[in-house]
Amino acid sequence: MSEAETVPFEAVLNETLGGIDFDPAALKAKYLEERDKRLRTDGNQQYVEVKGDFSAYVDDPYVEREEREPVFDHVDVVVIGGGFGGLLMGGRLREAGFEDIRMIEKGGDFGGTWYWNRYPGAMCDVESYCYLPMLEELGYVPKHKYSFAPEIAEHSQNIADHFRLYDNALLSTCVTHMEWDESAERWTIETDRGDKMTARAVAMGTGPLDRPKLPGIPGIDSFEGHTFHTSRWDYDYTGGDNAGGLDGLADKRVGIIGTGATAVQAIPHLGASAQELFVFQRTPSSVDVRNNRETDPEWAESLEPGWQERRMDNFNVIVTGGDQEEDLVHDGWTDIFRNLTGIAAKTASRKLGRRLTGPEKGELMEMSDYRKMEGVRHRVDEIVKDPATAEALKPWYRQFCKRPCFHDEYLPTFNRPNVHLIDTQGKGVDEIRPSGIVANGTFYELDCIIFATGFEVGTDPTRRRGYDVVGKGGTKLSEKWADGVKSLHGLQTADFPNCFFLGFVQGAVTVNIPQTLNEQAKHAAHILSEVRARGASVVEATPEGEQAWVEEMERKSRIGARFRAECTPGYYNNEGQAGNPNGFFSASYGAGPVKFFRILDEWRASGELEGCEIR
Ligand code: NDP
Repeated sequence: MSEAETVPFEAVLNETLGGIDFDPAALKAKYLEERDKRLRTDGNQQYVEVKGDFSAYVDDPYVEREEREPVFDHVDVVVIGGGFGGLLMGGRLREAGFEDIRMIEKGGDFGGTWYWNRYPGAMCDVESYCYLPMLEELGYVPKHKYSFAPEIAEHSQNIADHFRLYDNALLSTCVTHMEWDESAERWTIETDRGDKMTARAVAMGTGPLDRPKLPGIPGIDSFEGHTFHTSRWDYDYTGGDNAGGLDGLADKRVGIIGTGATAVQAIPHLGASAQELFVFQRTPSSVDVRNNRETDPEWAESLEPGWQERRMDNFNVIVTGGDQEEDLVHDGWTDIFRNLTGIAAKTASRKLGRRLTGPEKGELMEMSDYRKMEGVRHRVDEIVKDPATAEALKPWYRQFCKRPCFHDEYLPTFNRPNVHLIDTQGKGVDEIRPSGIVANGTFYELDCIIFATGFEVGTDPTRRRGYDVVGKGGTKLSEKWADGVKSLHGLQTADFPNCFFLGFVQGAVTVNIPQTLNEQAKHAAHILSEVRARGASVVEATPEGEQAWVEEMERKSRIGARFRAECTPGYYNNEGQAGNPNGFFSASYGAGPVKFFRILDEWRASGELEGCEIR
């Protein structure tokens, strides 16, 4: 037996964590207590669907709707969605020589999330050099480590320009129906503008978080002041722009409901501008260091061809627990993952002189998580002066129960005398009245209510999309996927020929979402190129190909049921209700994105198009 093997696991754990100065059992009990306060039987049903009387909340406030003649023509490929997924798809298709493309987008311009989310302070959370797609293709280096929304929206439009995606595009247009015509071997696509076109192939980049949701608070439709959702920011009312300066609020009492990633970015500006700001909190976010900075021009100059893909891969490997000689991004995300994933386990195992057992690994992860979240809570105490407010801003759950946030101005905002945290102890707002909000039994008179209450996740995708996709023989996608998604690599499904799904359909969830979208777009463009090269017109996943991927997904479904069950509710765990086939992580590939991208690479390289039929 070597000397290293005699070191007890507890000692290694203690050393890896740099000492254990917290009580894990007490923390666990506290986490479960906080979860229990928030569990509710109505899950996703607690939210109001934004339609009917509420539909004004999703109108496009950024463009005047222009009437146009409907189109009745045929194109080779229709791409639905002009966000990053659609842009990458359009760009990769152009690179592959597809000329007859039409983009259809409900917003008045390209950008998707970054078209809609213009709220003050909106910025990306993943390093911009990794996050903004196609930087090298466009010869662009973002201005900051984390870009602000206007730059990202502009970059989206530049991608569209670069790849001529405005040509033939239908903007401010919503698809209302899509049906495969087997005899003509083409899709018929109808829209809310009266268009009825056909296309040989369709790629859907419709995004997972595109439909705003509102809380089902009694009296929500009774408020007589001003109100809007953060994804449709009303600058006419607030004044200012993404950089703040919301002068219109100088004499206003403003309430904001929600304290998720969006609110964390908007609240500092609201606090700086509003006469009084009331932040209605149900669950605090975990808010760690942001540390944004301007891009060093010398560094930008020094970048060698291939730099963006290398950087994305480096980040992706680290945030999936792999080893890299150098952490190129070196930020809050890579810090979390170094501590919480396989990297920590490898360090411990080196000290131990053997591999960790499963339970030891689980314990290390849990203990590292407590340590990390203790740090996040300690940061609140350091920054927020009023002890009661500081206490209420502390998150009591494991790091990945909710989307981690990074911000340097959010917590200090609560030191402003005009900013009031109304913590509802997990219960949420009681009631909305014509002139304000009731929370914890107290009435707060308000001029304006801003809903930072997020987006529909976990509801039926057909409801979110607003139309069904009808495949061969009248097969409806909603029915085919009623008990869970069945696909080949998340991109294709049997009975829906020449149709590709980009995004969160049985693929890999990555921290840097555009990287997955890019891999999917490359893959779909490759398949369509192969169809063309082989003189065929139709490609379809075979039932066997689909079944093989469903089985691989099941084998690798490792995102812990226990972990999710112990989390405080949110969209990451289906609002605390297990077993939802439409949940955010329900259809993610458990072996992670590194393996997923390799599978796609090898599949393309083999040239066999395994699991697909071409005719
Ligand atoms: P979230 O779903 O994350 O947050 C919604 C908020 O509304 C939560 O704080 C929720 O509380 C609260 N809420 C819901 N109902 C009530 C109620 N009845 N009373 C009081 N509060 C209520 O939405 P966001 O828009 O903040 O973020 C969505 C996602 O978008 C993020 O997770 C992230 O993935 C992405 N995003 C990314 C950004 C970036 O990259 N920079 C920035 C912003 C968003 P509770 O937690 O208790 O449910």
